[in-house]
Amino acid sequence: MADEKPKEKPREMRAEVTVPYEMAVGSNWHRFFEGLKEEKILGTKCRKCNRIFVPPRSFCPRCFDDNEEWVEVGQEGRIETWCYSNLMFPGQTLKPPFVPVQVVLDGTDMGFQHRIAGFDLSDFEKVRALVKFGGRVRAVWNKEKKGTIFDIDYFELVT
Ligand SMILES: [Zn+2]
Repeated sequence: MADEKPKEKPREMRAEVTVPYEMAVGSNWHRFFEGLKEEKILGTKCRKCNRIFVPPRSFCPRCFDDNEEWVEVGQEGRIETWCYSNLMFPGQTLKPPFVPVQVVLDGTDMGFQHRIAGFDLSDFEKVRALVKFGGRVRAVWNKEKKGTIFDIDYFELVT
């Protein structure tokens, strides 16, 4: 007991773990992505409260009723919130700087997350002068469709 050495702190090393995975998107998202291939933005509608969800939800989180009605919504909307990202982080597919945005598409009742682009994003102050809460944006489609969220290339500012 008298010769007990003080315990050393366990040695640590930094490592990163990548976990590739695939997941089933389910029937709602499948239909949504198929719509994007045809340049249609589809949502689901609650028959009780009439709210329209984009991206589509299989049920209304307020009424807990199944959303069985599909509707095509507008390709323009208003900026609910946005931010400026100039950092690269693991898993990021967009090269910074980029502008994530939450858009409430016309005729819908919830935010749809995508990005704003179509102009020089290199200067934050210039971006901030152009991108406003409540400002109008419009979907710009990729020519090549893959049935993914990036079939919408970005949202452009509508002036
Ligand atoms: Zn509802």
